[in-house]
Amino acid sequence: MSRTAVISDSPVLLVEPVLESRLAELHHQLGIPAAWSAHSKWTLQPEPLDLADAGLDCFGRPQRMLPAALTAWQQMQAAAAAEGINLMLISAFRSVDYQCELIRRKLDKGQLIEQILTVNAAPGFSEHHSGRAIDLGTDDCFALTEDFEETAAFRWLQTNALSFKFLLSYPRNNPAGICYEPWHWCFQLDE
Ligand SMILES: [Zn+2]
Repeated sequence: MSRTAVISDSPVLLVEPVLESRLAELHHQLGIPAAWSAHSKWTLQPEPLDLADAGLDCFGRPQRMLPAALTAWQQMQAAAAAEGINLMLISAFRSVDYQCELIRRKLDKGQLIEQILTVNAAPGFSEHHSGRAIDLGTDDCFALTEDFEETAAFRWLQTNALSFKFLLSYPRNNPAGICYEPWHWCFQLDE
């Protein structure tokens, strides 16, 4: 039986009857220390029940988002375009299973789990699970690099994203100590 909880007006599915026990098993398989969740600077990010088709990302991969976040993203992208700024979607919703695969691929290439967890959230803790986080890029910049902060697109976002309820989740020197990600913006739900 699935349990549901309500965050603002968005129903979210606690992925399994006991989300934590599923995550504990997945973390064990990936070699993530059991203490990680307890001491983590990340917060648990349940997957939403309802995801809308967000079209293709800039690599041609189909993307999905929480419906309210999708609407806000489309409005923000159009507003930027009207000012000559090209905002490109690099990534949106990512499932817990996808996050596991991402980490497994890095483990298979010989990276250590401790290394991986400095740049990737453990499964269950990525903001991308919420369907509200988006990674953005623009024409004149390699995807997912700090150089994004030097672009006109980033400056436009700094000025305008909040009016579409998108916030930069991991600014430079953020209190949680998470790597600076100028490309990662998250749609805020009403309190
Ligand atoms: Zn991201």
